[in-house]
Amino acid sequence: MRIAMVSEHASPLATLGGVDAGGQNVHVAALSIELARRGNEVRVYTRRDDAVSPERVLLAPGVEVVHVTAGPTRHVPKDDMLPYMPALAAGIAADWTDWAPDVVHSHFWMSGVAALDAVSRMASAPRVMHTFHALGVVKRRHQGADDTSPAEREWLEPDVGRRVDGVVATCSDEAFELKKLGVPPRNISVIPCGVDLAHFTPDGPHESRRRRHRVLSVGRLVPRKGVGTVIEAIGALAAEGIDVELVVVGGGASNGGRDPELERLAGIARQTGAGERIELRGQVPQSALPELYRSADVVVCAPWYEPFGIVPLEAMACGIPVVASSVGGLIDSVVDGGTGRHVPPRDAGAVADAVRGLLLDEPQRRQLGANGRKRMTARYAWSRIAADTERSYRATIAAANGSAAPVRRRAKGGAR
Ligand code: UDP
Repeated sequence: MRIAMVSEHASPLATLGGVDAGGQNVHVAALSIELARRGNEVRVYTRRDDAVSPERVLLAPGVEVVHVTAGPTRHVPKDDMLPYMPALAAGIAADWTDWAPDVVHSHFWMSGVAALDAVSRMASAPRVMHTFHALGVVKRRHQGADDTSPAEREWLEPDVGRRVDGVVATCSDEAFELKKLGVPPRNISVIPCGVDLAHFTPDGPHESRRRRHRVLSVGRLVPRKGVGTVIEAIGALAAEGIDVELVVVGGGASNGGRDPELERLAGIARQTGAGERIELRGQVPQSALPELYRSADVVVCAPWYEPFGIVPLEAMACGIPVVASSVGGLIDSVVDGGTGRHVPPRDAGAVADAVRGLLLDEPQRRQLGANGRKRMTARYAWSRIAADTERSYRATIAAANGSAAPVRRRAKGGAR
């Protein structure tokens, strides 16, 4: 098949860990690469955010990233990008004049807007699949007036859900939300994100620690990730006399500016009185993350809400137990008492209790870590996620055509 991925703000080539670069970038990159390994041709369309990148970049055999000029050729926060979607759609449709896709898979609501627009410009309309990665209605529920999404999101996002041919939700909680938004249940499949099992492994080098115990937090530094809660919890454990340190990975402003969230977290660390136990490390490339995960006794993910959450998969793949808020995708991925512990969101006391329990019980940590690796191997390999996603494309195409799906394989030699 020819598959067009549309990911307006999240390029698979981006540096991860900034405000707008995280799980979606990883998902689009890994899914595209695996779909190409299966013999498909993939083009990923993303908005050009600098003046120097080539128009086309080969990400992997069979996967090309296409930079479409739409708006200024510099970083634009994703919440300011809506006005550029018509130009993005026009650029994508222009590329399809000599490369007609069989299916378009858009990522995040604005890409859905652009994808539907691009498809409407085509004579032979390909099927459109969509993954939301986050839902405005959930964001608004938790962030209220702090949500900087454009007002149009309130009606355009559900509209995307209702108009596309199929929605790939990443967890069951999201599927419930989508039904409430009026997306027909028959159009929803639930396929989680995956993890790179060859990169994130239990065996291999690990960074040395400064204290007896190490707790790790990894992710974009935005308030809803709940890193402040983790810092408070570790501060409390340090005050109890537990010899523990916390390493926080992620953050750092784009274009070298200030990162207000890093400054806010540094303030919380000082208030706990255990500031020297807390290291705010900033962005770390994926290549260096396995040795950091392996250096930890426990990885904590304490978001207020979480559409999916790839970080806990990476931790489990490295054999490290995870303390996770029981929200969104973490309900499905982390098994309470099996691969880690669930805690209520925004509850530093509960995080401290769960982490303390694990730090003081090494055999349990080992057991939960080993279970985590097994769970990742059994269910979350990107190869499996790509196979399930391809099946959902074919089912959607077949349902729409009322017949067998067209199969267009890439010429041999490029794949695998
Ligand atoms: N990440 C990274 N370096 C950093 C911070 C994050 O490589 O400094 C990666 C992390 O390993 C994970 C992704 O960014 O693969 C975050 O994905 P997740 O789904 O956990 O969160 P999201 O960004 O989607 O909110």
